[in-house]
Amino acid sequence: MAETPERESMEFDLVIVGGGPAGLSAAIRFKQLASEAGEDLSVVVIEKGGEIGAHILSGVVMDPVGLDQLIPDWRTRDDRPLKTEVTDDKFIFLGPGGAADISWLPMPDFMKNHGNFTGSLANLTRWLGAEAEKLGVEVFPGFAASELVYDDKGAVKGIVAGVMGTGADGQPKDDYQPGMELLGKYVLFAEGARGSLSKQLISKFNLDEGRDPQKYGIGLKEVWSVPEANFKEGYVQHTMGWPLDNKTGGGSFLYHFRDNGEPFITVGFVVHLNYANPYISPYDEFQRFKHHELGLPLPQGRQAGCLWRARHHRGRLPVCPQARLPGRRADRLRRGLRQRAPHQGQP
Ligand SMILES: Cc1cc2nc3c(=O)[nH]c(=O)nc-3n(C[C@H](O)[C@H](O)[C@H](O)COP(=O)(O)OP(=O)(O)OC[C@H]3O[C@@H](n4cnc5c(N)ncnc54)[C@H](O)[C@@H]3O)c2cc1C
Repeated sequence: MAETPERESMEFDLVIVGGGPAGLSAAIRFKQLASEAGEDLSVVVIEKGGEIGAHILSGVVMDPVGLDQLIPDWRTRDDRPLKTEVTDDKFIFLGPGGAADISWLPMPDFMKNHGNFTGSLANLTRWLGAEAEKLGVEVFPGFAASELVYDDKGAVKGIVAGVMGTGADGQPKDDYQPGMELLGKYVLFAEGARGSLSKQLISKFNLDEGRDPQKYGIGLKEVWSVPEANFKEGYVQHTMGWPLDNKTGGGSFLYHFRDNGEPFITVGFVVHLNYANPYISPYDEFQRFKHHELGLPLPQGRQAGCLWRARHHRGRLPVCPQARLPGRRADRLRRGLRQRAPHQGQP
């Protein structure tokens, strides 16, 4: 085997793993606070998706309270990422042959959507990525953080990103590239649900001791491009009940929103993973749900051109890193990571 290349390292004030809404919001807030204090602090965000937003699948109907605080002028900006305010919010209980609108029942606040927005969380995340870059955050999509780096007292001091050429047995192959160590005074893990490094940290530092176990679900989503006749801007609907049995948690979501002026419907289905029937397939339950006459209320009917151009959100997206960073320091990081990435340059 060829000689193993040496691993370089770079230091930052804050290293953030995961360029989702949480990681990018934290990066933005950190930069805002640093600027208020007159400090120029360095922040890097490492994102394993080929571009920011590539791994973000959510619906989304969203309470904008956090965004109002983070970027107070977002509602008046032309490039704002959420434009469709919720106009009608329905909660429906489905049975095999019928449906009951239970929206009139008193619901907890987190289940009420008036005042919320609907749209694409991937678009919102891309927008947050651009806002972070404007503030000087170094955003690197296309690189997974794959290892933790500890100091001699056992505290986390960084991560390793951009490792390539490891075999299925975990051993380096001939084309092995060691990636880079990104070291931070603070390291923030914003990997979303079941992050691979977060799992190691939870286990090493017993972070789940005395806590309830995590509960997981699988969510599937499609985005439909629909004719205006089948579109009701701002309509939000959730269902529970059929096709799931009464021992299985979950249900459907359906949001009507515009993107670049075009009408879209996001439709999805969530199944909680504590179901008792081992034969349940969340994907098939989603397909069954779509055949319920009342589950998908489309004014012109389901056959009127809705199912064409449905986009399933399950596959991998192309790798095309979009870091645009000024300065020699950024050049070094970009070079260090990219020279180690044989797949760069693919569309
Ligand atoms: C189908 C579905 C529908 C949903 N609908 C709604 C909704 O309508 N409204 C709502 O408010 N919420 C909704 N959610 C929940 C919402 O998506 C999450 O709460 C939100 O995305 C969490 O943000 P996050 O930044 O913590 O994690 P994530 O959005 O999961 O982002 C984590 C990011 O970190 C990256 N990452 C992970 N590990 C690494 C690593 N080791 N190295 C580099 N990068 C890494 C991932 O690629 C990802 O981009 C939905 C979720 C799903 C799945």
